[in-house]
Amino acid sequence: MNLSERLRSNAQHYPNSLSYDYLGEQVTYQELDDRVNRFTYQLAAKGIGKGDVVALLLGNNPYFVTAYYGVIRAGAIVVPINPTFTSRELSYILTTSKCKLIIAHSALQPVLNGLRSQLAELQSIIYAEPVENELNMELLMEEVDEQLSLPELDEEDVAVILFTSGTTGNPKGAMLTHRNLYSNAVACCELFEMTRDDRIIAVLPLFHVFCMTVCMNAPIICGSSMVIMPKFSPVDVVNTIRDTRATLFAGVPTMYNYIMQLPNVSAADFSSLRLAVSGGAPIPVSLLENFSERFQVQIQEGYGLSEASPVTAFNPIRGKRKPGSVGLNIPSVMNMVVDSEGLEVPRGEIGELIVKGPNVMKGYLGMPEETSLTIKDDWLYTGDLATMDEEGYIYIVDRKKDLILVGGYNVYPREVEEVLYQHPAIIEAAVIGVPDEQLGEAVKAYIVRKDAALMDEEIRAFLQDKLVKYKIPKYIEYIAELPKNSSGKILRKSLRETTVV
Ligand code: AMP
Repeated sequence: MNLSERLRSNAQHYPNSLSYDYLGEQVTYQELDDRVNRFTYQLAAKGIGKGDVVALLLGNNPYFVTAYYGVIRAGAIVVPINPTFTSRELSYILTTSKCKLIIAHSALQPVLNGLRSQLAELQSIIYAEPVENELNMELLMEEVDEQLSLPELDEEDVAVILFTSGTTGNPKGAMLTHRNLYSNAVACCELFEMTRDDRIIAVLPLFHVFCMTVCMNAPIICGSSMVIMPKFSPVDVVNTIRDTRATLFAGVPTMYNYIMQLPNVSAADFSSLRLAVSGGAPIPVSLLENFSERFQVQIQEGYGLSEASPVTAFNPIRGKRKPGSVGLNIPSVMNMVVDSEGLEVPRGEIGELIVKGPNVMKGYLGMPEETSLTIKDDWLYTGDLATMDEEGYIYIVDRKKDLILVGGYNVYPREVEEVLYQHPAIIEAAVIGVPDEQLGEAVKAYIVRKDAALMDEEIRAFLQDKLVKYKIPKYIEYIAELPKNSSGKILRKSLRETTVV
């Protein structure tokens, strides 16, 4: 089985079940499969087949789903890219991946025209919306040529390449195979106990692996429905959950935080939700608990990364849920915490988290050295520091590269942030290390406050009995909003690059 076959089999078994709802437009499994088929044949007719790279520069809408499944069915490789990237960022990914075809929104035409001459392998661009003298996705799907034969897909073939900044340097293309993606989507169906009655909100960007697997591939595998939202706004999310009677929601912590700030929302708005999943970044324990109490919705935290398609750990929905922990190994995946020699550390001690399983990528595109530094003996080195308790629950301490060294002492920014989030007048907090003449590095906190009356003295007093002195921020800066990436993750890196002490 692979994703494409599973979609086809769902269309045969439950043709009239809803595959997705997009702003009220409802499409059944049979209709989706038909759209995908039509598009696949057009791709094949254009000579797109095994091993060819097709870039998707699409936001959250049905075009993404059709194009993604069409490319996979044609045996080619999907490279999903954030459509808001700059021309420089696009150029890097499109040239590195030797992209042969681009499927994009029409608004990108000027940028893509500017890049065309640099893209040696590029054969054509298909636009989602009509553009004069250019290929159009809808029009192409009206023509059908079912005479073409499609390739057999091998589970070890690369299906998707995700460009991720990983733990170091330039973006690297994580190559995910059919087996990687399929196994992780199946695992999510099991973990969330998904059935055909479920409706999941897809508001995280579909081009990011979290949404791709959890909110698109998993529901397609289980025959459940997606409610695709074009962009995130806390009010829209609440209204959409209520109006569509969604049963599942998956978000990053900042989304839960924004929803918490809304004054006129109550548990009744979430009465249809049976599970909310948080991942992609640590969710402060105070937020997890306050959200669950106010809205009577249990948030289950999990952990993953692009290189693992992505999920590797999750708090069981029937077993014990431990706030602050990202949970246990998911089915068929092993997590281990190791020292610098790669040996398992005793339970409770901090080390690097490594993972092994059918979801671990094949490697980084064209980067054998980076690959061998990241995957050793089939174990993927995540670059995250973690501990594991006696029962196998994993706690992410922080990213290895975000560790701050204050006069020789380790300060994990996340620990300081967790305490800051407990202050009722603090909406968001991010902690970084800044150069310090005496101590090497000092702790600096960026704070989004509810109330301008909140000052340094009060914050330091609040932290005093909760943190040892060297962890208390030497510098505090108030900021209107923290920098975030397209999926809502707080970017400490941007703060480090722009900070002035
Ligand atoms: P990406 O490859 O963009 O999905 O980013 C993966 C990274 O996000 C991981 O290596 C972690 O640093 C971070 N991450 C994901 N989930 C969690 C979580 N629940 N808690 C802490 N960090 C997380």
